[in-house]
Amino acid sequence: MKLKLFYKSTRGNDEKLTSAQAIIKGIAEDGGLFVPDSFRKIGIDFDKLKNLSYKELALLIMKMLLPDFTEEELKLCIENAYDEKFDTDRIAPTVKKSGVFFLELYHGPTLAFKDMALSMLPYLLKTALKKTNNDKDVVILTATSGDTGKAALEGFADVEKTKIVVFYPKKGVSIVQERQMVTQKGSNTFVVGINGNFDDAQNGVKNIFGDKIFNEELGKINYILSSANSINIGRLIPQVVYYFYSYLDLYRSGEIEKGEKINVAVPTGNFGNILAAFYAKKMGLPINKFICASNKNNVLTDFIKTGVYDRRRDFYMTESPSMDILISSNLERLLYELSGGNGNKVNSLMTELKNNGFYEIDQDMKNGLMDFYGGFTDDAETKKCIKSVYEESKYVMDTHTAVACKVFLEYKEKTGDATKTIVVSTASPFKFTRSINDALKFTDDAKDDFHLVEAFSRYYNKPIPKGIKDLDKKEIIHATICNKEQMKDMIQKFLKKE
Ligand SMILES: *Cc1c(COP(=O)(O)O)cnc(C)c1O
Repeated sequence: MKLKLFYKSTRGNDEKLTSAQAIIKGIAEDGGLFVPDSFRKIGIDFDKLKNLSYKELALLIMKMLLPDFTEEELKLCIENAYDEKFDTDRIAPTVKKSGVFFLELYHGPTLAFKDMALSMLPYLLKTALKKTNNDKDVVILTATSGDTGKAALEGFADVEKTKIVVFYPKKGVSIVQERQMVTQKGSNTFVVGINGNFDDAQNGVKNIFGDKIFNEELGKINYILSSANSINIGRLIPQVVYYFYSYLDLYRSGEIEKGEKINVAVPTGNFGNILAAFYAKKMGLPINKFICASNKNNVLTDFIKTGVYDRRRDFYMTESPSMDILISSNLERLLYELSGGNGNKVNSLMTELKNNGFYEIDQDMKNGLMDFYGGFTDDAETKKCIKSVYEESKYVMDTHTAVACKVFLEYKEKTGDATKTIVVSTASPFKFTRSINDALKFTDDAKDDFHLVEAFSRYYNKPIPKGIKDLDKKEIIHATICNKEQMKDMIQKFLKKE
């Protein structure tokens, strides 16, 4: 008696898709994002769940959100995603340092949390294509603020019937991040730097999705577009799993009682990671507060305080570059939930954002925001936090994690809320050694970033992770740069090369 779950657009058209169809399409006809039309509670005693491995838990939860996939299909996807690419078979371990619980999501091949979903998405997509008898090749279009690009390239490289195109802001990613991407092998990969910021890249990609003529042309040469960004629901679903897993970790180790509520503090950019926590709550995870942490690009902090989303502000490049975003795509999915599934309302808010650069939600929706707390911090405070946590517990956070940690500590001080809190750790410190060196001063010789990685490895007494080892010695394969107006031409050129 399987209750069927379908996916529909946040913007109110009547499309009702299976999860396989939604994953292939990436984005809805009306420009909206696909969302589940209902959520089921997990309904299993946590005493039973607590002994499941990460993969077993993933199967259980993903089955609920992807009901049209068979158990066999899902098992295969999970086995392929979470294999020895990850440096621990706990996949997403939670560690306690300085009295804070860090959920470490960076044990995958590219050292950032994007691996949690992007090591899975190619398998979900491949399965979905087979299930729906789709004979076209898929072109995965991706805009990246630094980490998604590499994780997507790594996941899709040489996957048959797919091609992957990544656009990154030429001046908006770290040197290590850029080098990870431009050295990517695989005959189906294509990486382009654009003269612009992440929002430009993301807007460009969204416009290409919405360009009917362009999509028809691609169809004629047997291609369809899909997305590896968190606008694709296939990105969000695997992310729901680790919130349950972390909670069960705390329960198993006696840190919390059964049913005890926890808070989660999430370093937020495109609102995908924190939204997965929100979905986890809808499926029965006892979460009290969602602490949404931003850097100086604090559009979400203001939104959570006032209910006004206003992107008419300066864009800053910070030392947590994966969060340098002013248009958080997945907030649209939260708006959908806050409005009680009112697609027309979401549609008009999104139209206002597009036309005027801002919108304000009504009182009912504002009430729904009560479970959220928004805070932000700047680079100097972020680095201070890295230093103080290191001094206290010899644990090094990357800059994104530190933003969340700092905002959490401030929240705790301000509110006195003693609820146990999971701080989501989204990247390895090895990815951001320049900022870490500013904070910890582990070497005087900071001339190049690759040297810094080596010096940090000695200082922290941990080997350089495989994902960035010898990065400076790898051949640069992708050196294309374009203006944001040329993105479509670039894709065409790449596809015609064959
Ligand atoms: C992508 C990213 C984030 C932001 O996650 P969203 O799901 O976009 O909110 C935070 N930290 C790191 C290291 C990231 O790569």
